[in-house]
Amino acid sequence: MRLASRVESLPPSSTLAVTARAKELARAGVDVISFAAGEPDFSTPQLVVEAAVSALRGGQTRYGPVPGDPESRRVIAEKLTRENQIPGVTADHVVISSGGKHSLALLFQALIDAEAGIDEVLLPVPAWVSYAPMTTLAGGRVVEIPTSSANDFKMTPEQLERAITAGSRILVINSPSNPCGTMYSPEELRAFAQIVADAAKTRAPDLVVISDELYEKIIFGGIDHFSIGSVPAIAERTITVNGLSKAYAMTGWRIGYFAGSGAFGLKVARGVAKLQSQSTTSIPTFIMPAVSAALTKCESEVARMREAFAARAKIAYSLIAGIPGLVCPEPTGAFYLFPDVSAHFGKKSAGGRQITSAAAFAEALLEEQRVAVVPGEDFGSGGEKCFRLTFACDEKSIREGIGRIRAFIGSLR
Ligand code: GLU
Repeated sequence: MRLASRVESLPPSSTLAVTARAKELARAGVDVISFAAGEPDFSTPQLVVEAAVSALRGGQTRYGPVPGDPESRRVIAEKLTRENQIPGVTADHVVISSGGKHSLALLFQALIDAEAGIDEVLLPVPAWVSYAPMTTLAGGRVVEIPTSSANDFKMTPEQLERAITAGSRILVINSPSNPCGTMYSPEELRAFAQIVADAAKTRAPDLVVISDELYEKIIFGGIDHFSIGSVPAIAERTITVNGLSKAYAMTGWRIGYFAGSGAFGLKVARGVAKLQSQSTTSIPTFIMPAVSAALTKCESEVARMREAFAARAKIAYSLIAGIPGLVCPEPTGAFYLFPDVSAHFGKKSAGGRQITSAAAFAEALLEEQRVAVVPGEDFGSGGEKCFRLTFACDEKSIREGIGRIRAFIGSLR
């Protein structure tokens, strides 16, 4: 008996697979250092925990509104208006889902329309592992826009201009980037917005920008975070996605959200709420109060974590940059490095393993030095030369783990 072919051909998330493998080894007593999941090692702020616990104790355990409770949606709309300067967002434009990943998956389902011939997802690559599978599951086609470490893994306005066609439905922008750790400047994003606005008037009337801003608070390179949805010319065709996982150390809570603007934003919110009403209904009702606690009361915790990530970024980058043969842009946001390791392909490890690819490199590194990194193949073209390392872990692990990577690379012949 078979499963549905869309599931048979679906790759599992490699970020989660490597994380699970590292945890399994640690449970078995192996001294493994995991640079796998992008997951802050901090605890969720106490105020947030208390908001959820008291809701639970107070009996907030029944069904709640599908897109989230009115108070959380109001707080999110205010945040997007005030901090991100996105015009035309009200509580009705916001849908809260089970993590940023869920928000994205629902959006891809709501927007891609293969039957109408608007099914292309323009994806600057390397990109986070789940955008492409989400596209395929929704019946869409990924159109990769290649970037490389030489240009900080950033697409140029000319590349975007060339990629847009009448079939373009979604342009994915993810700044700061997972896995690249780099960011677009406000000027670069404004240039993209202009191209989208012009193309929308002529050849691509259905083009929507999905701006994944999960890492907006984790920036340390002197570049301001800028929401492309704040540009008036494309505000009504931009959906901004965010969540609490990364900025508030709440990965396990699974709280993500999105909002668009104006009439189209409202339409998208209603469409996605329909999808959610036929699947998960809503996030758990007793965690709803955590949303406003995080967004309105935790600024100092966020700042403290940002400082820690900034310090770790410096250490991790200087250690990685000092390893012969690795090419890696300096990170400016998120908590990832994505070094190009292809100079070492074709060599053999001390344990006799052939390093033929990023996957072979990551496997040999795990087996021989007990360091878990995510091989770059699943991040799209260009990724096959790289591996992803997260510095969301403590400084001691960063030093010890990168030391082991250095020893491993030094032993390659
Ligand atoms: N987004 C995080 C990462 O890339 C968590 C795992 C996932 O959802 O891919 O590591």
